[in-house]
Amino acid sequence: SLSDRLTGALKDLRGKGRLSDADIDRTCREIRLALLEADVSLPVVRAFIARIKERAKGAEVSAALNPAQTVVKIVNEELIGILGGETRRVRFAKNPPTVIMLAGLQGAGKTTLAGKLGNWLKQQGHTPLLVACDLQRPGAVSQLQIVGERAGVPVFAPHPGTGVGGEGTLGVTSGDPVSVARAGVEEAKAKHYDVVVIDTAGRLGIDAELMKQASDIRDATTPDEVLFVVDAMIGQDAVTTAEAFADGVGFTGVVLTKLDGDARGGAALSVREVTGQPIMFASSGEKLEDFDVFHPDRMASRILGMGDVLSLIEQAEQHWDAEQAEAAAAKITQGELTLEDFLEQMLMIRKMGPIGNILGMLPGAGQMKDALSQVDDKQLDRVQAIIRGMTPAERDNPKIINASRRLRIANGSGVTVSEVNQLVDRFFEARKMMAQMSGRMGMGGMNRKSN
Ligand code: GDP
Ligand code: MG
Repeated sequence: SLSDRLTGALKDLRGKGRLSDADIDRTCREIRLALLEADVSLPVVRAFIARIKERAKGAEVSAALNPAQTVVKIVNEELIGILGGETRRVRFAKNPPTVIMLAGLQGAGKTTLAGKLGNWLKQQGHTPLLVACDLQRPGAVSQLQIVGERAGVPVFAPHPGTGVGGEGTLGVTSGDPVSVARAGVEEAKAKHYDVVVIDTAGRLGIDAELMKQASDIRDATTPDEVLFVVDAMIGQDAVTTAEAFADGVGFTGVVLTKLDGDARGGAALSVREVTGQPIMFASSGEKLEDFDVFHPDRMASRILGMGDVLSLIEQAEQHWDAEQAEAAAAKITQGELTLEDFLEQMLMIRKMGPIGNILGMLPGAGQMKDALSQVDDKQLDRVQAIIRGMTPAERDNPKIINASRRLRIANGSGVTVSEVNQLVDRFFEARKMMAQMSGRMGMGGMNRKSN
């Protein structure tokens, strides 16, 4: 999978000190594939990658991250930025009612969304009214009424008496969607509903009549928000559809639906880039609750398809103590690493999570990691216990740990003497090996500032 490939690229680049152009190109190639696989449109990918390269070339490699991780981090930040950074909130009218009009192709999820929005608005303390202006598709009005009833939100519809009682079925007699929309807003004013959600008709494809109807409804109701509703599953088609609606009706925000499917969400990035309008909500199922304000960071990891890698990068940055690592590196070079340092390094690494997740991803831990790579988390617990059972003098100078000290340590930490022996032996071996390696590599691995 792509995530594996990227993880592979990250591993290969481990331990390099700087972002070379080749590193950047290589990582960008993988990111490019990730974006294309996520159905981001090609021109958008091109422009995006060009921006990333620009930024990556001027980037400093931090002590916590290796070059590939640095590029991934930049990509992630840029993606989040492009997807809107902060969530854009609904702009409510100063003088209610606020009018929110929904537009989009048939099957995009507008009617379902009307119910979800109604439900959400109610939870926010609003008093919404849904207005049924899809008079095209048979059953569209009663579909909205069912959805409204489920959400406990009244529906204004042209034909009274179709299932929902009370004011939900107040209506006009005309079957003209524009008059229904206008009457719906009047109804809201009269009855003091503070938000009107207008459900409109869609077509299977873009056509002039649909656009005309939508723009007529827009002109008749002067909406505060026109939300373009788009099925995340339609991938690249989202761009053409979005452009057509942007030209034909104009919209102020985007709602992505069907995110419960396996779409990677590239449509989100494309629509955002191409139209410049923010994504405001995300819909992820048929139920009322399958709905949330849009979270750019979640979408970014979905598009990159590497949530684990991203969280690991975050953790590495949070927990990496550069000074401590440098001090340890200096001691390693001189073969002076103590068990106290060893314990500190181990604790630092372990803060980042289960050892299995971290080994292989950790850029700076260098040789320390190799020494730790033969043990699993349970063994690490024991190693930790053994070192904690030693006196400071013993940790500082492990050479003094003779047979009687080993017995005392074993008893104190609940392990056998042979386990203590093993640890001490392995420590000496590792220390020697690390000193040799870091000597050969000119301090590489542990301390990357020297580059
Ligand atoms: P409209 O033609 O734009 O009004 O679309 P509808 O609201 O009628 O939705 C079309 C179909 O998609 C219906 O079967 C909905 O139940 C379904 N649907 C809408 N939103 C979602 C969603 O987020 N996830 C899934 N899985 N189905 C959805
Ligand atoms: Mg509908």
